[in-house]
Amino acid sequence: MDKSLRKPVIAGNWKMNNTPEQTKALIEQMKPLVADADCDVVLCVPYIDLYAAMEAAAGSNIKIGAENCHWAEKGAFTGEVSAQMLKAAGVPYVIIGHSERRQYFGETDVTVRNRVRAALDAGLKVILCVGEVLSERKLGITSQIVSAQTEIALAGVSEEELANVIIAYEPVWAIGTGETATPEQANEVCAIIRALIARLYGKDAADRFVIQYGGSMNDGNAAELLAQYDVDGGLIGGASLVAEKFAKIVEAASK
Ligand code: PEP
Repeated sequence: MDKSLRKPVIAGNWKMNNTPEQTKALIEQMKPLVADADCDVVLCVPYIDLYAAMEAAAGSNIKIGAENCHWAEKGAFTGEVSAQMLKAAGVPYVIIGHSERRQYFGETDVTVRNRVRAALDAGLKVILCVGEVLSERKLGITSQIVSAQTEIALAGVSEEELANVIIAYEPVWAIGTGETATPEQANEVCAIIRALIARLYGKDAADRFVIQYGGSMNDGNAAELLAQYDVDGGLIGGASLVAEKFAKIVEAASK
């Protein structure tokens, strides 16, 4: 296997942070810092900031994503936004199944699967998040949990469609806690996911498949995590809100 078959993807997840004005200012700051990136650079922002983000990022190498989408095309789903709406607005990426959605908003493996289906049908690129909580890691069932989340989310996804999917392995105990998985722990689970992709779609598809690590990745620990064989990028929360920190992670992924 050859890691160079895969172009790393560094994606920021702004969560519920930044107004449209702040969005423009932060992206203006980031643009020159990431202009020479030898990896894909994505910023996933709140719905209200999408237009400001796309306007600020226009003509640069920064691509914009949303943080969720609904599975229905339209209808009586107050507060939701459909994948078709994102596509029509010109948004290329969407995060689906983030642990904060699973933890605080009742997201299940089945609703994650439905959202993935809708996003792919709309022609969006999906960053699918999977990961175990601390009690599951302590029980020694990380592999089963992450495999089940992955297999259910990808149910019905064809090999051709898989080209529009990235998986972010995010151990829930490492998100926003400052506690990072060790490079070995991150690589071990990313390798488990890759082996599952190989079983479902074949070895070639698995060799090309991008798997990110997410969970307190920052400018200090990114290089070591990204050097792991099965880690092809990062999904970055807190550090994506600070231009210099995010740019250093992009730099680490570009080596
Ligand atoms: C995330 O939001 O996906 C994330 C990994 O957050 P943090 O980097 O802040 O842990």
